[in-house]
Amino acid sequence: MTKVRFAPSPTGKLHLGSARTAVFNWLYARHTGGKLVLRIEDTDLSRSQEIYTESIIKDMKWMGMDYDEFYKQSDRFEIYRSYVDKLLEMGKAYYCTCSREDLLARNSAKGLMDQAAKYDGNCRGKKEKPAGDFVVRLDIGGDRDIAFKDVVKARINVNTKELDDYVILKSDGSPTYNFAVVVDDALMEMTHIIRGEDHITNTTKQIILYENLGFTIPQFAHLPLVMGKDKAPLSKRKGSTNIEYYRAQGILPSALLNAIARLGWSHGNDEVFTMEELMRYFDIEKLSKSNAVYDEEKMMWLNGKHMRALPLEKFIQDFEEFLKETNLPKQGKMLENQWFLMALDGLRGRHSNLKSLYEETLSFAQNVFSMDEKALPVLEELKKNVDIEKAYVEVKKWLLAMKNWENRAEIEENLKSTAAQHSVKLGDLIQRLRIQLTGKTISPDIILLFRLLGEETVKRMERP
Ligand code: GLU
Repeated sequence: MTKVRFAPSPTGKLHLGSARTAVFNWLYARHTGGKLVLRIEDTDLSRSQEIYTESIIKDMKWMGMDYDEFYKQSDRFEIYRSYVDKLLEMGKAYYCTCSREDLLARNSAKGLMDQAAKYDGNCRGKKEKPAGDFVVRLDIGGDRDIAFKDVVKARINVNTKELDDYVILKSDGSPTYNFAVVVDDALMEMTHIIRGEDHITNTTKQIILYENLGFTIPQFAHLPLVMGKDKAPLSKRKGSTNIEYYRAQGILPSALLNAIARLGWSHGNDEVFTMEELMRYFDIEKLSKSNAVYDEEKMMWLNGKHMRALPLEKFIQDFEEFLKETNLPKQGKMLENQWFLMALDGLRGRHSNLKSLYEETLSFAQNVFSMDEKALPVLEELKKNVDIEKAYVEVKKWLLAMKNWENRAEIEENLKSTAAQHSVKLGDLIQRLRIQLTGKTISPDIILLFRLLGEETVKRMERP
C-alpha cells in the first residue's frame, strides 16, 4: 500500500510552494487508496512555533485535505537518540568537538576558502563521549557515487566528494533534519517521498543513512520549483502567497486546490477539476519535469468557474465560512434565509471572488441606491420616448398585480408582450427599468433584479 507524508517545519505559515507538496502527497494517497501522514518537523526548537502548526492544520482542513496519521518530531527525540547510539556503536558515526572557528582556520590554511564550512573529518573515529560540548557526525565513508532513480528526474548521480561527514545530533541533543527524516520515513514505512527539488542534495545524504541503518529506500519524486510569472521562485516572496491570504481574498478552497494541483501536473488540456476528479486523475507518472509557473489571473479565472459550478449547498457553506473568517456581517435582507440563497445563487455567476459577491449582495440587501453620472443622461434620453414611458407604466401595473415573482418565464413573456404592444424595443424597455432600479447601465438580469429588490422594485419605479 502507498504511504506518503507531508512534513512541514512549523516555522511560518503555509505558502503555495509547500501547499503544493501537501496537495500532491494527499492526492497521491487518495488516488492510490493509500495513507497520508502529517508529520510536523519541529526539531529546530528555537524556530518552531505551535501557532504555525495550528495554522498549517487549519489551512489543510480548509482545502479539504485530511490525513491518516499525525506525528510531531519533538515527541520522538528518544527514538532518534537510540538510532544515533546504534550508529556510534557500529562505528558509522563519531563524536566531534571541533568548533567552527577551528574548522575554518584549518580549511583556510589548506587554501579551501570556497568550501569554508565543509567538515574535514578531523574527529573521525572518536568513540569516547567527550565531557564538554559535542556533536555527532555521520561517517559517510570513502568516495563513491550515490545514484538513485527519481520518478520525475529519472536517474540522479552524486559523488560523495561533494558531501561531508554531516552532523546528525546537535550539541543541544536535538537531531538534525537529515537524520530525523530518515529514521521517521523508514519507521513510518513511507513508500514514496514527494517533495521539492530543493531537497535533492539532502536525498543523497539521506540515502547514505538508509544504507547504514539497513532501511529500505523509498521511491523519490522531486518536484520542480514553482515560479512566479516573473520567473523568480515563489518561495522567495512573502505575504501574498500564503494560503491564508487567498482565503481572506474570497478564493474558494476547491478553486485553490485546483490551481495548486496544476502546478507541475496535467491531465490532457483540462484546466477545471473538482476535488473528486483530481483524486481520480492525479498520478505521479504525469508530473512535469520543468518548473511550474503560478499565474494569479488564472487563479481568479478558476475561482469564477468554481463559484458557478459548485452545488449551491456547498457554495453557501463555503460562503458562510468566508464571512465568518473575514468578520463580514450579514445585514438587511441577507438575514432572511430564502432571500440570501436566491441572491447568492443569482449573483454568483457575475463574480470571480467571494468578496465582491458579498459587496454586491449587501448593496441589494440594504437597498443601497445611487445614480451613476454616466447612467443619468441615458435615462433622460429614454424617458423622452413616450411609448417607452407607456410600456413602463404598464410593467409597474402587472408587477403590482402579480402575486409571486418566482415564475421567470411568465415575467419574461409579460415583458416581451408589453414591449410589443407599445412598439418599443425590449432592450430599451429593460434599460429604462434597469437604470431606474439600480442607477446603473449594467446590472444583474432584470428578472433577478425584481426578485432581489422585492417590494422596493415598485417603490423605486415610482421615484421621479
Ligand atoms: N521539513 C522539511 C521542509 O519543510 C521537509 C522536507 C521533506 O519533505 O523531507 O522542508
